[in-house]
Amino acid sequence: MYLKSLEIQGFKSFPDKISLTFDKGLTAVVGPNGSGKSNIGDSVRWVLGEQSTKTLRGNKMEDVIFSGTVARKPMGFAAVTLNIDNRDNTIPDIGDEIAVTRKLYRSGESEYMINGKPCRLKDINELFMDTGLGRDGYSIIGQGRIAEIVGAKSSERRDIFEEAAGISKFRYKKLEAERK
Ligand code: ATP
Ligand code: MG
Repeated sequence: MYLKSLEIQGFKSFPDKISLTFDKGLTAVVGPNGSGKSNIGDSVRWVLGEQSTKTLRGNKMEDVIFSGTVARKPMGFAAVTLNIDNRDNTIPDIGDEIAVTRKLYRSGESEYMINGKPCRLKDINELFMDTGLGRDGYSIIGQGRIAEIVGAKSSERRDIFEEAAGISKFRYKKLEAERK
């Protein structure tokens, strides 16, 4: 599977709806300082369920909503949709395309969707478990992450290998079963 496109509206420095399409292979994002390159990465983390405002480089979750400029009023919500090409059936039983959406209103109300259907964050986490994608997956490597992995405790490093080996799901299911 691969990231096909990303739709961003009202998120950080992107008030208008934009659509970024990616082809297979390598894509580089270039631009001057402060032009929004890192905000694109933040939008991917966010739509996959990132809850840490620090990781998203803000103080509160509302900071992800476009806060206005001298020329432009603030937005009332932020919405990001991530479209994935799943034609290789990396994730079975869901179809060739997977769209994951997260929306947050200034009132604090928020929603997640998979293929347009409202869902819980838990559903998104379970969907991507063992694929490497997902909030805690290894497909997003931020600045300092390599040093963090090298310096991590062996138990933490084991979690990364378990995700890559595709067995975190079993550990998760065991924990869930034990909780019931
Ligand atoms: P650099 O090359 O320095 O890393 P960059 O291209 O990665 O820059 P970003 O960090 O993505 O830049 O973007 C920073 C810009 O986003 C700042 O100008 C900041 O004001 C703007 N920004 C962040 N959050 C919001 C928000 N909620 N509303 C409006 N603008 C925002
Ligand atoms: Mg940056």
